[in-house]
Amino acid sequence: MKIHEYQAKEILAKYGVPIPRGEVANTPEEAAAVARQLFAQGASGVVVKAQIHAGGRGKGGGVKVAKSRDEAEQHVQKILGMQLVTHQTGPQGQKVRRLLVEETAQIDRELYLGIVLDRATGELVFMASQAGGMDIEEVAAKTPEAIFKERVDPAVGFGAWQARKLAFALGLKSTQINQAVAFFQSLYRATLETDASLVEINPFITTKDDKLFALDAKINFDDNALFRHPEIKALRDVDEEDPLEVEASKYSLNYIKLDGTIACMVNGAGLAMATMDIIQYAGGSPANFLDVGGGATQEQIEHAFEILLSDKNVKAIFINIFGGILRVDRLATGVVAAARNLNVQVPIVLRLEGTNVEEGRQILKDSGLNFQVGATMKEAADLVVKAASSR
Ligand code: GDP
Ligand code: MN
Repeated sequence: MKIHEYQAKEILAKYGVPIPRGEVANTPEEAAAVARQLFAQGASGVVVKAQIHAGGRGKGGGVKVAKSRDEAEQHVQKILGMQLVTHQTGPQGQKVRRLLVEETAQIDRELYLGIVLDRATGELVFMASQAGGMDIEEVAAKTPEAIFKERVDPAVGFGAWQARKLAFALGLKSTQINQAVAFFQSLYRATLETDASLVEINPFITTKDDKLFALDAKINFDDNALFRHPEIKALRDVDEEDPLEVEASKYSLNYIKLDGTIACMVNGAGLAMATMDIIQYAGGSPANFLDVGGGATQEQIEHAFEILLSDKNVKAIFINIFGGILRVDRLATGVVAAARNLNVQVPIVLRLEGTNVEEGRQILKDSGLNFQVGATMKEAADLVVKAASSR
C-alpha cells in the first residue's frame, strides 16, 4: 500500500525524523490559511506541493516555491485540481485533490536516503547517495557506485557504526554527523516498526545553518502486514487507485488491469502468469490478471465476472482453473450462475483440470449456455484468441 507524502511525514515525525513545518490542505482556503500562518511564524517562503501517489511531481509542475502569500495563493489555484502528469502517472496524469504547504528550507545540499527490503536475502538495505533530488533509478543504472549500501542483519539491527559510515560516505560535515546518525536510526526504526517495504527520502537535505531535513518522503507498506497496523490501513486513499482494483480488493480478489482484450480468471498467481504467457503465445493479449485464490466462493466468482465485464476492452473471457481446494464442480456451478445472473454476452472459454473435473464439465454442458471448453491449455488459448479476434 502507498500513502501520501504528508502522511509519510506525519509517521516519520513520530519517530523523530526532522521534517519542515507545514500542513495538508484540501481546499484553496485551507491552503491559503496554512501559508498565512507559516509566514506569520516567520517563514521566508513556503512550498506548495501536490499530493498524489507518484513521484516526479517537481518536474511535472506540482511543486512550487512562493516568497509571499499572494504568490502562494497563485500556486495553490494552479496546482489544486490540476491533472498532474509525471513519469510515474502515465499520460493521463492524476488529479490533485490535496496540497501540502510547508515552510521552505535554505537548501545547501540535496542527498538521497532509502531503505528497501531485499527479498532475496530477507534483509533491509539502507542506501544513501550524494546524487539526491534526482531520479534514483537513473543513478542506479548509470553510476551504481554512487549509491552506498549497508545491509542490516535482522538479528543485530542497524548499528550506529553503520549510520556513521553512511554519514561519512555522504560527505557530511563533522557538525552534522551526530544529527545524521540519530536521523538514520529514526528512519530505520520507522521502517521496521511499520512493516514498510520501502522508505525513501529524496531529497534528504542539509541546510546552510547545518540542519538536516526530510524534504520529501515516500513509504510503501507490506500489504500482508497491514492487519497489525489498523492506523496505517486507515491512511489508504482509494482516489489514487484504479477503481476496478479497489472493487476487486473488497472481495479479496487479486486483480490488476492490463490493456489487452482477453480477460483471465485463474486460481493461483503462478497459473495467472502462465495463462498470460500462453495467451501471448497464441497471438492474443491479456486484459487483466485476476487470481480468485484457492478457496473461491460462488459469490467471489460472480464479483470476479462483474469486474472483468466492466472493462470495456474485454472481448472474450478465459477461465483457466486447476481444481484443488477449489473443486471444479463448485467453480462450474459458480460460473453458470454468474453467466446467467449477469447475462454475459462475451464468449467464455474454459480449461479445467483437477478434482471433480468430469462433474464440472457436465454442469457446463447441462446449463445450455454457450461455453467452449479446451482439452489442453494451448487448445483453450487458441480458442479464446480466435473468439476475441472475431468480435
Ligand atoms: P518529487 O518531484 O515528486 O520527488 O517531489 P519533491 O518533494 O522531491 O520536490 C521536488 C524538488 O522540489 C526537490 O528536489 C527540491 O529541489 C524542490 N523543493 C521541494 N521543497 C523545497 C523547499 O522547501 N525549498 C526549495 N528551495 N526547494 C524545494
Ligand atoms: Mn522527491
